Amino acid sequence: ASWFGHVEPAAKDPILGVTEAFLADPSPDKVNVGVGAYRDDNGKPVVLECVREAERRIAGNLNMEYLPMGGSIKMIEESLKLAYGEDSDLIKEKRIAAVQALSGTGACRLFADFQKRFLPDTQIYIPIPTWANHHNIWRDACVPQRTFRYYHPETRGLDFASMMDDIKNAPNGSFFLLHACAHNPTGVDPSEEQWREISYQFKVKNHFPFFDMAYQGFASGDPNRDAKAIQIFLEDGHLIGCAQSYAKNMGLYGQRVGCLSILCEDELQAVAVKSQLQQLARPMYSNPPIHGALVVSIILGDPELKSLWLKEVKGMADRIIGMRKALREKLEKLGSPLSWEHITNQIGMFCYSGMTPEQVDRLTDEFHIYMTRNGRISMAGVTTGNVGYLANAIHEVTK
Ligand code: PLP
Repeated sequence: ASWFGHVEPAAKDPILGVTEAFLADPSPDKVNVGVGAYRDDNGKPVVLECVREAERRIAGNLNMEYLPMGGSIKMIEESLKLAYGEDSDLIKEKRIAAVQALSGTGACRLFADFQKRFLPDTQIYIPIPTWANHHNIWRDACVPQRTFRYYHPETRGLDFASMMDDIKNAPNGSFFLLHACAHNPTGVDPSEEQWREISYQFKVKNHFPFFDMAYQGFASGDPNRDAKAIQIFLEDGHLIGCAQSYAKNMGLYGQRVGCLSILCEDELQAVAVKSQLQQLARPMYSNPPIHGALVVSIILGDPELKSLWLKEVKGMADRIIGMRKALREKLEKLGSPLSWEHITNQIGMFCYSGMTPEQVDRLTDEFHIYMTRNGRISMAGVTTGNVGYLANAIHEVTK
């Protein structure tokens, strides 16, 4: 008898598949706009200067002891200030239960497991489309999923009316997953005014918002501005959950450092909730890794390094915004009869181009341009050097 004979290979992750195909292509023209990681204008991965400096300060001084089960206290403190506001009363009142998490993914998963254990009758409403892993995370946590409408394919913008309808029609007290900013994959965010209406409707319906904030600072270049949606919900007195990641905004992808927080009614609740989050983490990985958490707490805890970080995040966001402008301009100059306004209206790392899977296949086959078949372009992979080539290819396959 075979123990493992029945194990079929898992379906390939669509994004990792794109990278593999890109690496295997010998063409000198090849372009990878599939992967969701920042690249500089030469297409190279970036380590931020503030991170280098934090590492210099750590070097030789780091012992290898375990962190507490909930992770680095300092890192958590700084993360809460970033998400909830520097002078937040909620922090002073100790109403937020928070633990270090294995980046944004780990924060989402810990929340989903918490939801399953303590709110077993709830479901999660997920936007269509969303980051594909959201579906996997809540599926593996055994939380039933519902969806809500979000994106309007014709305008390539927000389908606000349908989104509001779905919020209104969900049973009172439903859990909703919201992208705090720079929605992945669409790059489409509600306006401030729309966030206010969403928050109002959540109050009416007594829904619970869980914010996935994987790109704070990466959308506008200003972390405070990117936390606006959360601020609006806090002003309206909601309890919220929040997943924070330092993968993109500090370029700490492989360090797996993030934070999960849950705003509670009072300190007593927060203590209980935090202890239960730790209890969930214990049999999975005991406690989180130390290095990335130290890097983050050194940067955010030192005014000089923090301002360097703010400058560097803005630099990344501005480069992407510049590439959006360049790509749109070039397509318009080529005489494309289509509207490319959405390239500059959308925000964050991705452009949801509206190209069909067949058009994407042609980009790959004829032009060696690699991206996911949903038409999502990672703007972080676009450079001064390849934007003309990319625009031309897009024009060829869409005309
Ligand atoms: N949430 C969203 C919407 C994302 O796009 C990503 C990364 O692509 C993540 C969470 C999690 O990333 P990480 O686990 O690397 O922090």
